[in-house]
Amino acid sequence: MAERKALRPRHMMLLVITSFLLLVVSLWSSRSSSARIHPLTEAPLAGVPDPLEGSFGTMTPGEETKTQPGPGAGRTTVRHRVQPGDTLSTIFTSLGASMSDLRKIMEADAEYLALATLQPGTEVRLSFNATGLLTEMALEIDAARTIFFTRTDDATFEYRQTESETRWVSEVLRGTIEGSFYASALRAGLTESQIASVSQLLEHQVNFRRDLRAGDRFSVIIGQEMAGNESTGKNRLEAVSLQLGSDTHTAFRFEDGNYYDLNGKSVLPAFRRWPTNTPYRVSSPFSRNRIHPVTGRKAPHNGVDLATPRGTPILSTGDGIVQRIGNHPYAGKYIDIDHGNAYKTRYLHLDRILVRKGQKVQRGHKIALSGNTGRSTGPHLHFELHINGTPTDPLKAEIPTAADVPTALAKRFEKEAEFKLEVMTRAGSRSNLMLAGTRGTSD
Ligand SMILES: [Zn+2]
Repeated sequence: MAERKALRPRHMMLLVITSFLLLVVSLWSSRSSSARIHPLTEAPLAGVPDPLEGSFGTMTPGEETKTQPGPGAGRTTVRHRVQPGDTLSTIFTSLGASMSDLRKIMEADAEYLALATLQPGTEVRLSFNATGLLTEMALEIDAARTIFFTRTDDATFEYRQTESETRWVSEVLRGTIEGSFYASALRAGLTESQIASVSQLLEHQVNFRRDLRAGDRFSVIIGQEMAGNESTGKNRLEAVSLQLGSDTHTAFRFEDGNYYDLNGKSVLPAFRRWPTNTPYRVSSPFSRNRIHPVTGRKAPHNGVDLATPRGTPILSTGDGIVQRIGNHPYAGKYIDIDHGNAYKTRYLHLDRILVRKGQKVQRGHKIALSGNTGRSTGPHLHFELHINGTPTDPLKAEIPTAADVPTALAKRFEKEAEFKLEVMTRAGSRSNLMLAGTRGTSD
């Protein structure tokens, strides 16, 4: 380490960039291997005849389950890679597990809803003891995360999640405006959601319809989450730079998860105004004295009703912790989020809740799908904002704005931002990649 400290900054930069290029190789190779979808495979225990053998596919070398010495002896594990169109029922049936155990696992999942969002490519593992009793279901959600449902007694399964250490590596994408920003960014290799993020980050500085001219340039750093040498599939924007004539607009992600411009000023308000991706018609406004549409009685309406069709993604309007989820005869399925300080939000009549009590959410986190549950005249979202315990009109209230980078961290932010800007400026195209790893870049 003392040796490295002696290196001059330019040498240091070259060293770092070389290491990044090595990392990009591992990123691409891991991507191609994770894109490989395994067919249905089973891994019978060595020496124990597999009752399912012959019914499904072939064994894949390297996926065999090892015999557990001691109490785990006699255990058999069968595996299935979720395919489009699969349901847990069909998977359980094909792997020889019972519907009653599936119901018990679904019951255990009620607080977590991990099974409600089962994705193709996820590996499902079912373990049976020597008598054929299902003892555990494991879901490999991605390269870093696995969820387990473990039998505790005859009637119940217990949920737990493990997470291995991850790190972020980055790539630079660069492009020139020809036509719309959307089309230009797609050509540069950004995904639709990354384009939406860029627009959101810069929408307070740039009018994307009016301000862009052919030939204007943009550059982004995309972070990819890695577990070992494998991508988990998660990515995020690390930095964006948009050059309009002589003006450069930037946003940099900092360690607090917020985005700031080159001067350390927040580019986003701390709260979203709308709990949806796009605004919806207000079907009933906030009111201290409203005639209730169902009861006909006068009562305060402590939120706004938004005419969201069933299934509309509902987003947390700020960073916070899920304080409460529930199913109320009148409010239907609901979520309360505590945003710290003076702010709370509440979302009612949901169709499906995608978070659990105590979970940390970030601004824009998809927390639910809207619905028509509880006492309701039709599909809509009832949305409340409480400031210091008092319901306030969420569409008119002064919503809090994010602070700038704290003074104590300003130097660090400045260094990071300047480095990212340098990386974005130097990279020419996807074929000229530089990676900015966060850890272990020179080992
Ligand atoms: Zn309402």
